[in-house]
Amino acid sequence: MTETTIFQKIINGDIPCKKLHEDEFCIAFNDIDAQAPVHFLVIPKEPIQSLLECVEKDKNLLGHLLFIGSKIAKSKNLNNWRTVINTGKESGQTVFHLHIHFISGRKMNWPPG
Ligand code: AMP
Repeated sequence: MTETTIFQKIINGDIPCKKLHEDEFCIAFNDIDAQAPVHFLVIPKEPIQSLLECVEKDKNLLGHLLFIGSKIAKSKNLNNWRTVINTGKESGQTVFHLHIHFISGRKMNWPPG
């Protein structure tokens, strides 16, 4: 049996979050350890571990997550932001429930570390 992730606990309502959006497919909330003045996450309700596990049937869901995140960013009057999806431990993924970071409000460096 796979371990219940912290994000699954957020979806289940077992631990609190600063929720920005929820619909039948996804939930968006502020990152607890913000790396910029704006830093929120969009996650699917379906427990997909990472992009590595995504299959053909997930195409629409992936588009939905990006669309919702962009909608939230625009609702905050942002026109610059960075979207990040870490896939696998070496990329920096720490929570194994797919999530998209939306980060904004400061100048970003490139390439990322
Ligand atoms: P990643 O390193 O890409 O797996 O990102 C995981 C993100 O989840 C990190 O930015 C964490 O700060 C964030 N995080 C972990 N626990 C929580 C929580 N309880 N509420 C909100 N964000 C969280």
